Amino acid sequence: MRAVVFEEFGKPAEVREVPDPAPAEHGVVVRVEATGLCRSDWHGWMGHDTDIVLPHVPGHELAGVVEAVGTRVTGRRPGDRVTVPFVCACGTCPACAAGDQQVCERQTQPGFSHWGSFAEYVALDHADVNLVAIPDGMAPGTAAGLGCRFATAFR
Ligand SMILES: [Zn+2]
Ligand SMILES: [Zn+2]
Repeated sequence: MRAVVFEEFGKPAEVREVPDPAPAEHGVVVRVEATGLCRSDWHGWMGHDTDIVLPHVPGHELAGVVEAVGTRVTGRRPGDRVTVPFVCACGTCPACAAGDQQVCERQTQPGFSHWGSFAEYVALDHADVNLVAIPDGMAPGTAAGLGCRFATAFR
């Protein structure tokens, strides 16, 4: 697949061919239809986030279509239109059990803890916990803004 990759913090990124992602047992791969660019991406690119391992593909504000599903995913199937919150939760830690997935103790974030959505495809963990269905008729560019920028402004 094609993806935006940077090799060094603060240095230019480039579009290149990289291996396609595969879904984890509990995860999916989404074909990206829209992805946003926000201040958090700048922090990641500048090296302010210790989760990021180089080389890296940024991007966390995304919407797209489920392409592949892990063997333990029960609630999603290929073809589903989805987006995700900024913090993807594990669904089982004490914080998640208390309903506070946004502070999950084992949280993942595409574009930070693993490669993100500045790419044709992105892998997302714990799909049954994190994926949010996009209503029919909502444009991908609108849906991609819901998980980070809209939620940040709303809160
Ligand atoms: Zn953001
Ligand atoms: Zn958790």
